[in-house]
Amino acid sequence: MKIETNSKRILACGIVICLVLLSTIGSASAYSLKSYWWQDEKAGFKIDSSVSTTWHNALNSAMDEWNDAPSDFYYYYDSSSDNKFQCQYLPQETWNGLCSTTYSGDSIIKTIITLNTAKSWSTYSICLPGKMDVQSTATHEFGHALGLAHSTYSDATMWQYGYTGTTWKRSLHSDDECGIRAMYGPE
Ligand SMILES: [Zn+2]
Repeated sequence: MKIETNSKRILACGIVICLVLLSTIGSASAYSLKSYWWQDEKAGFKIDSSVSTTWHNALNSAMDEWNDAPSDFYYYYDSSSDNKFQCQYLPQETWNGLCSTTYSGDSIIKTIITLNTAKSWSTYSICLPGKMDVQSTATHEFGHALGLAHSTYSDATMWQYGYTGTTWKRSLHSDDECGIRAMYGPE
């Protein structure tokens, strides 16, 4: 009777260890890092005059979301920076947001984030149906701007697809936090 109980316990322990290993493997392979990053672990951005002032709060919140993540990296405003957030009307393009990075070796030199105003956008607390949420898209693009590529987790902010009428990408998934921590280390 006692032996039976012990073997059940051993079996239970074995299952728990397997689950932990599987989840560790899963999270390690979900986020993806580019081969270049900000060597001084910070990046100053200016908001271009092409961006409506009604968007500024959303952009601020998007930067703060990454600043609040557990890593040494942070964004800050710098009106003289070459890094900028801008809007362009590009009806021929299918993308909503784009992050274009200039780098040398493993160092990021300059980054420009563009949101396509040919798309329909929302800055409301609840995203309007059929519109893209500015803050969600900005949070995703700021993830690229610090050196993250796309995650294979469909519920991560760094998941490659964006959806109209949703705001869930405003908040980082633990996988996104693992990504920035892997790149810039813990605070
Ligand atoms: Zn992307």
